[in-house]
Amino acid sequence: MDFENRIVSPDYNFTEDEAELSLRPRTLNEYIGQDKAKDNLRIYITAAKQRKETLDHCLLYGPPGLGKTTLSGIIARELGVNLRVTSGPAIEKQGDLVAILTSLEEGDVLFIDEIHRLSRNVEEILYPAMEDFSLDIIIGKGPSARSIRIDVPRFTLVGATTRSGQLTAPLRDRFGVLLRLELYTPEQLSEIVIRSAGILGIEIDKEGALEIASRSRGTPRIANRLLKRVRDIAQVEFDGVITEKTARAALERFEIDELGLDDFDRKMLEIIIKNYCGGPVGLDTLAAAMGEEAVTIEDVYEPYLMQIGFLSRTARGRCVTKLAYDHLGIPFVCETPQQSMF
Ligand code: ADP
Repeated sequence: MDFENRIVSPDYNFTEDEAELSLRPRTLNEYIGQDKAKDNLRIYITAAKQRKETLDHCLLYGPPGLGKTTLSGIIARELGVNLRVTSGPAIEKQGDLVAILTSLEEGDVLFIDEIHRLSRNVEEILYPAMEDFSLDIIIGKGPSARSIRIDVPRFTLVGATTRSGQLTAPLRDRFGVLLRLELYTPEQLSEIVIRSAGILGIEIDKEGALEIASRSRGTPRIANRLLKRVRDIAQVEFDGVITEKTARAALERFEIDELGLDDFDRKMLEIIIKNYCGGPVGLDTLAAAMGEEAVTIEDVYEPYLMQIGFLSRTARGRCVTKLAYDHLGIPFVCETPQQSMF
């Protein structure tokens, strides 16, 4: 199976998600769900605007596809400033970051995606920039080298990461606002599906939207992607309208079950059950058995499986719960002390 082309992968995929730009909500009111993060942001943005100050640096964290990039655009728009977008891996040298920072305008929002992937020496440039809006630049080499300090416009850094635990402490401490994005409920995703269908001119009823939403693993990016895939089948094999029946038929064809699990999830759960008696199994052992990288398992597979209570993380490794056995139709007989907790 080709992991890159997995339909329910929350990672951005150019061919599947190129319409994302048009589907992105542009204001906080259009942004569905994440009420806690939105309420906090609304207050911070209003306060910063009233004081005519820049907004504190914000760190957004949560699994891919939950709306971090979208939210950074909304922050800039609500503040009425420009947005500059870059990412941790794209900033290779200190000079790259200096060039970006010196070209900002007063009050701009700088969005750095995957900020946990910034290299250490680039991070060092960022500390004084975040704190004092200045840069310490070394000119020359050897004994004649000297450091000069230059000012940069006051800006708001919005960092996004899937793993806040991987951020260095000095970087994390420099963010005034930390916002954790949560997986969405099927009802919220169903609102997102209906909104996107409206923009794309797709006919869908409430039940059809909920059917797609329930199988989207709590992730708007997946919901939008499934909507487009289901539309194709509704158009070619039915009358073009997405109803519960057409959505179900299409998603079954993609082998995405009623909880949004695909072959990858089922394979992982079955490996833990069959090879490791349901767990506990260490992350690296599991990654090797799956032929996947450990970070992919942690960032992509696990959040949703844990959210629906199919997988638990213990100090000794991952365990599959009785709920997952029941879902897969495997008798829950191979009991280990860890599993008897469930
Ligand atoms: P991330 O940066 O966390 O990977 P994105 O911001 O790129 O996620 O969001 C992926 C897609 O999901 C966007 O195109 C957007 O259309 C949709 N989306 C995300 N969050 C929301 C939301 N709260 N309301 C409506 N659509 C959303």
